[in-house]
Amino acid sequence: MDKLVQGIAADGAIRVFGAITTDTVAEAIRRHQTSPTVSAALGRTMTGALMMASTLKEVDRLTVKIEGDGPVGGITAEANGDGKVRGYVKNAVAELPSKSNGKFDVSGVVGKGMFYVIREAGFDIGLRPEPYVGSVPIVSGEIAEDFAFYLAKSEQIPSAVMLGVLLNNTAPFVAASGGVMVQMLPGANEHLITMIEDTIAHAPHLTSVIGQDTHPSELVKLALGEIDFQILDEKDVTFECTCSMDRAKSMVSALGREEVASMLEEQGGAVMNCGFCNEIYTLSEADMENLLKEQK
Ligand code: ZN
Repeated sequence: MDKLVQGIAADGAIRVFGAITTDTVAEAIRRHQTSPTVSAALGRTMTGALMMASTLKEVDRLTVKIEGDGPVGGITAEANGDGKVRGYVKNAVAELPSKSNGKFDVSGVVGKGMFYVIREAGFDIGLRPEPYVGSVPIVSGEIAEDFAFYLAKSEQIPSAVMLGVLLNNTAPFVAASGGVMVQMLPGANEHLITMIEDTIAHAPHLTSVIGQDTHPSELVKLALGEIDFQILDEKDVTFECTCSMDRAKSMVSALGREEVASMLEEQGGAVMNCGFCNEIYTLSEADMENLLKEQK
């Protein structure tokens, strides 16, 4: 089971998050059939979004949108404070050759553009909140650096972020996936961030320490080195979409009586595809007739 932890260090001057997302990213890849490089990009974005959303209430949500001019065309990940995340990309099959060091060319598929974070409070209880949108240019396209840059520039939180997705050749294709996010709160000693950045620069790759039973606090330890920390909260992480057959029906119904009637006549039903999770909902003739009855 994937897990997310949050904690504090340095007498509360540092907030830390650690996440293991191996199964969650595998589920996203299974649903969207993404190419290897796009899988790495989507997995990193989903993991970063989960950690950023981790302090939210369950009914709030946070969306990260990366809109670059690279072949993937755009990446979206949406997470809530309850460890649920969903995500998709514009072009799932985009691919580029690996870089000379053998790594996926994530920055190449992402390209240049903008990195957005959209926060919506009370979304799931129907408050229809005015979203708060922050944005920065894409500075790296490797995604971890982009999260750190966003937090520093847009939210004035100096941060260090590590994200890693290790793929293999057989389904479910994800050998390991996880991340760490270290945030400096107001009053934190400036030397701390330098120290942590140095620790991270010399740390082994995240994915090399993620095994079957690895706890996300081990990833936090990797980033903090000698600095003691305290885990305050732990939650399960899953890929979960908010779509359902009921929602698909109400979306078809919202097209209006005339449209529903013509779909029934011409196609004998309707097929709805959820963009976030690629789930397909097939409405039968009887479903359509019921929708028409309800509209009377
Ligand atoms: Zn869905």
